[in-house]
Amino acid sequence: LLRAHEVSKSFGHSLVLDNVSLDVARGEVVVLIGPSGAGKSTFLRTLNQLETIDSGSIYLDGELLGYDETNGKLHHLNETQITAQRRRLGMVFQQFNLFPHMTALQNIAHAPTHVRGIKPAEAKKQALALLDRVGLADRAHHYPSELSGGQQQRVAIARSLAMAPDILLFDEPTSALDPELVDDVLQVMRSLSQQGQTMIVVTHEMGFARDVADRVVFMTEGAIREVGTPEYIFKQSTNERLRSFLGSVG
Ligand code: ATP
Ligand code: MG
Repeated sequence: LLRAHEVSKSFGHSLVLDNVSLDVARGEVVVLIGPSGAGKSTFLRTLNQLETIDSGSIYLDGELLGYDETNGKLHHLNETQITAQRRRLGMVFQQFNLFPHMTALQNIAHAPTHVRGIKPAEAKKQALALLDRVGLADRAHHYPSELSGGQQQRVAIARSLAMAPDILLFDEPTSALDPELVDDVLQVMRSLSQQGQTMIVVTHEMGFARDVADRVVFMTEGAIREVGTPEYIFKQSTNERLRSFLGSVG
């Protein structure tokens, strides 16, 4: 479904992504782990075209992202075209970024009505169904300030799902939450994976990685150092950096 091929990216003189290649199959859950500064967020942001890349290519379902290839030449896509592609990759951030002046329901129905052109009544119906999916059917008319962090994050997940993305990208979705709220959010992500949602998840929740990931990718210093099943990554690999990283996160 997604193919990142030799993606490189520098900020000034520092090389933040160094020839990163990753294929993600439809329905797969890939968990990305690694120390702070490894380039995990930057990699997700390049997939979603929030960052441009210096070299390499990214394909979604066979379609080159960010560029148009005509007569053997590459042209940058315009903003409208990039926005259309970006919709196919939903992103969930550590900070939930909900619209504070809109209820949970309005937050979810906003993009479908304004971007996808779905009729308000239909969008509302879909939003209610999504709220039910994330366990918040009874919070539809609450404003973000009236919801716990975990509930806000679940609304943010529902909002991403409302655009029916091919792939969901999560950047440390539970890192800003109080510990007792983490499990509800992870539970929602787990059920999405069971429903076949393709996801790439950056997280420090190793239990989630162990239980839910099809593959775990370990990055340091802008490069992928190890890739494998949870069994391989957590038990078998003898990669020293990986072992020491896992030791440090417990
Ligand atoms: P963390 O676990 O702390 O979130 P990360 O693996 O997500 O780390 P990134 O945020 O991708 O790491 O950052 C990778 C490197 O790129 C870091 O050295 C960071 O300082 C640098 N970096 C990221 N964004 C920018 C930017 N906009 N301008 C300059 N440098 C940046
Ligand atoms: Mg990060």
